[in-house]
Amino acid sequence: MTFRDWFRPPRHVLTIFLSVAVVSAGALGWLSWLLVAQDRALDVQRRQARLEQAADRATAIMQGALADLELQLTASSAHTSEPPPGVVIVIGGPTGVIDVVHPDGGLLYYPEPGQAPEAPTAPFIEAEQAEFARRDLVAAGNLYTALASGTDTAVRAGALAGLARIRRKGQYPDAALAAYDELAELSGVRVAGLPPGLVARTGRARVLEDTGRASELRDEAARLDEELRSGRWQLTKSQHQFYSAEARRWLGQPELEMDTADREAEALADAVQWLWDERPWEEGPSPEPAARRLVQMGGMPVLAVWNASPESLRVGVAGPSYLTALGHEAIPDTDLEWTLSDPAGRVVLGEPSTSPLAVRTAAASRLPWSLQVYSAAGPDLSPTSPRQGLLLWVLAVLAVVWVTGAYFIVRAISRELAVERLQSDFVAGVSHEFRSPLASLSQIAEMLVSNRFASDDLRRQSYDVLARETDRLRRLVEGLLDFGRFAAGGAVYHFEPVDIGAFLETVISEFRARAAATGHTIELSLPAVTTYVRGDRDALSRAIWNLLDNAVKYSPDCHTVWLDVEQDRDRVSLTVRDQGLGIPVDEQRAIFERFVRGAESKARRIKGTGVGLAMVRRIAEAHGGEVRLTSQPGQGSRFTMILRTYDRLEAAGGVA
Ligand code: ADP
Repeated sequence: MTFRDWFRPPRHVLTIFLSVAVVSAGALGWLSWLLVAQDRALDVQRRQARLEQAADRATAIMQGALADLELQLTASSAHTSEPPPGVVIVIGGPTGVIDVVHPDGGLLYYPEPGQAPEAPTAPFIEAEQAEFARRDLVAAGNLYTALASGTDTAVRAGALAGLARIRRKGQYPDAALAAYDELAELSGVRVAGLPPGLVARTGRARVLEDTGRASELRDEAARLDEELRSGRWQLTKSQHQFYSAEARRWLGQPELEMDTADREAEALADAVQWLWDERPWEEGPSPEPAARRLVQMGGMPVLAVWNASPESLRVGVAGPSYLTALGHEAIPDTDLEWTLSDPAGRVVLGEPSTSPLAVRTAAASRLPWSLQVYSAAGPDLSPTSPRQGLLLWVLAVLAVVWVTGAYFIVRAISRELAVERLQSDFVAGVSHEFRSPLASLSQIAEMLVSNRFASDDLRRQSYDVLARETDRLRRLVEGLLDFGRFAAGGAVYHFEPVDIGAFLETVISEFRARAAATGHTIELSLPAVTTYVRGDRDALSRAIWNLLDNAVKYSPDCHTVWLDVEQDRDRVSLTVRDQGLGIPVDEQRAIFERFVRGAESKARRIKGTGVGLAMVRRIAEAHGGEVRLTSQPGQGSRFTMILRTYDRLEAAGGVA
């Protein structure tokens, strides 16, 4: 079908309709899409506005929290009020030595441990000479015992440590342990730069190690480890690491195991250490006496806030636990997420996201970090508002209606075109069929009028042709009339008992003359028994004639056509078979439709109108039967008409 075919009447109505439908559907779709896009843009704007609001609110809350923290640093009563959870406040004196730490044990280790008093060396000279120079442990022991009973705590501590040492050397482990226990009671002083508690704990562990008291050693080491982790003693980082390693050795755990809390405590201590090393309040080209800073310590973000004055130095440090709590307080919405980045733009807390963000940079917000707020659900592309949903539904329904409509329109147009093509084929076929007998007739008639026959023989032959062509014309006209009656469904049937054998013999004897013209013979095979059907002789004869005529027409090379009759219980089948052209499988259904002709028959210009098989099928159906076809191209065809048999005697009895 060419494109122009679509625009020829009457299709033009459908075509215009189709075009209008396409254009209107397109316009509608486009408009709806615009609406959805607009709605979505609004939605995106709304979401962004919400993120911006949340970021503003969060910035304000964070600024408030930092301001509170700074106030706590500057307030004179700072050391009395407890800092928020997760924050450690360190107050140093003018010399920078740490005075107070909030909360107690807040720092794991110290840049400069506190200046607790230590015993002078003078009282110990004699005892140490006895112990180390003369190796007189008894004398040394007595001297240490005397010193240990004094009133000066620092001296007592030094003496108890010496006493315990002597007893350990003298193989008096229990006495050594007792001395260490006594030493552990003392506080506020230092022994060889260490807190007495730590000296006692490690001394006890060594005694237990010497004496092989493994389980007691493990308990002791576990307590030591716990006390070190709790920041109980003011130690330098190297002291802390040394005694932690000792504790682990005694525990038999050479690997250092740290949980998040341990790592955070270490990060805080490192941050303080770093501040004390860097001294940003007095070092550098532009010292900052008061500042807020976010630093990375051991892979963890640590907030450092300080305020340095000539009288005191106050520093607040807080790790991820404080920052996370602050974040949650500032952004309580469960559907929002946030991240904090350092000034270099690295995300230090929270999961980075690719979703749309609301960002408050450090520079703009005066916070030591940049804050990013985003939606936890990610970039949401699904329609969320009911309006968008409804629009998409309407669009979908319209699309379905349109596609269905278009399908039916195209189908209607195709059918109409097919019918038209069949009808024109039919007209061409019919005119072709009529043309040749009419030409013969007019030629003979002309010769008769002018009496131009060369001989009587020729004249006789002309009469034969006249008779044959007239008969052919008659049959053609009758065939078309029959088609009008039978295939169009307007026939009135006169049913009567028909002896199939006798009936077929009559039909064939009439047909033989037609077959002889093309040199074909018909072979009839009948069952032994007489079989009756109840039928209309005229209609059945028309149907069998058509099948035989086709068999002859479509077997140009094989000149025999067979008609086999078989009876099976109450059915009789009349099979007309040939060894002619055969019919392709994809045509076998269609050829029973009106005006449909096979491609091969058209290609070979075999005359025909395409109505014969439609009529045969109608006639068979009117008799309560059917027509079946088996065929293979090049091998011939078998058309079988199946009819119900009829018991004539019974019927006669019934009538009587
Ligand atoms: P017509 O023979 O006038 O074309 P019919 O309705 O009788 O119309 O047959 C329809 C088509 O079926 C034929 O055009 C032909 O292609 C095919 N056909 C029918 N009978 C045979 C046959 N015996 N052998 C091969 N093709 C056949």
